[in-house]
Amino acid sequence: MTDPVFRNRCSFFKHALGPKRVRPVPFTVAQLPPIDLIILSHNHTDHLDRTALCDIAKLNPKVKFYVPLRMKKWLVKNVKHATPEQFIDMDWWQEIEHVPFEKQNIVSTNNRLPTHVSGSLKVTFLPSQHWSVRNTINDWNHQLWGGFGLCYTPHLMTQQSRTIYFAGDTGYNNTMFKKIYERFAEPNGGIDVAFIPIGAYGPRWFSASQHADPMEAVQIAVDIGAKHSCGMHWGTFLVSTEPVLEPVEKLHQALQLMQLDYHQQPNEKESNGDDFFITVAHGQTKTCTHKPKKSHVDVLHGKDKDQNTSVILQMEKEK
Ligand SMILES: [Zn+2]
Ligand SMILES: [Zn+2]
Repeated sequence: MTDPVFRNRCSFFKHALGPKRVRPVPFTVAQLPPIDLIILSHNHTDHLDRTALCDIAKLNPKVKFYVPLRMKKWLVKNVKHATPEQFIDMDWWQEIEHVPFEKQNIVSTNNRLPTHVSGSLKVTFLPSQHWSVRNTINDWNHQLWGGFGLCYTPHLMTQQSRTIYFAGDTGYNNTMFKKIYERFAEPNGGIDVAFIPIGAYGPRWFSASQHADPMEAVQIAVDIGAKHSCGMHWGTFLVSTEPVLEPVEKLHQALQLMQLDYHQQPNEKESNGDDFFITVAHGQTKTCTHKPKKSHVDVLHGKDKDQNTSVILQMEKEK
């Protein structure tokens, strides 16, 4: 699970201050299936909800928290029901092998944990272009921030490895994501599914260095060579100046320009998709079951890449 936030407001304060949710939480902590691990990207209030972490730790006594460097001390002090050994803080590019699922003796309480899961999971902490602050003016950038790669390798050699990338909060630059691509490229098979932020980009004079806009989010998906991407960090808390649904509209425009697929079925609870870059409604489930169409692979790794990249940069200039 990534950056679990269940509060109605994201704020330094306990109750009435700070941006309010524009959509309700689709489920409670108690309704979640058993959780193996939590990855935390950074300590901003729209990503780190102390109460949610306490509730999750209480219901999942074996849950592990993979967190940025120097966040552990704060968590040990503030998260009840967890021991210090459950928090693992990591530096950029550091890799840690997560204890295989079956060795944790997890008992499913609601039959939603797949019984066939076995294998190993490598957790890699990755850089992002962002910053951190929690409570006071003197803890700016005291704790690290970043994204994660999760590479699952099944025990059966006949099954393929799978890699998920979670970007956290990030601005765009044209070097960092190419290094992330290299980290997960062959022989590891590349990134299968990426979660990339598309919101909180306005105004650009303030946000460009710390939050990618939808155009840059598509560029991130291209740079990291993700087979499928899902837009996140929009439509929940209004922490910036763009209209609440604009990130999805702009994502659609960027993908049309790049001649890549966009697909959203807000009224459909479950659907299969072979889409390049999607968004999902709150509480919606989408399943990636197909390999990307050949055109996607051509765009990402073939000769068309430069052509499409120049289109995107041209549109950026015109803006
Ligand atoms: Zn942030
Ligand atoms: Zn954020």
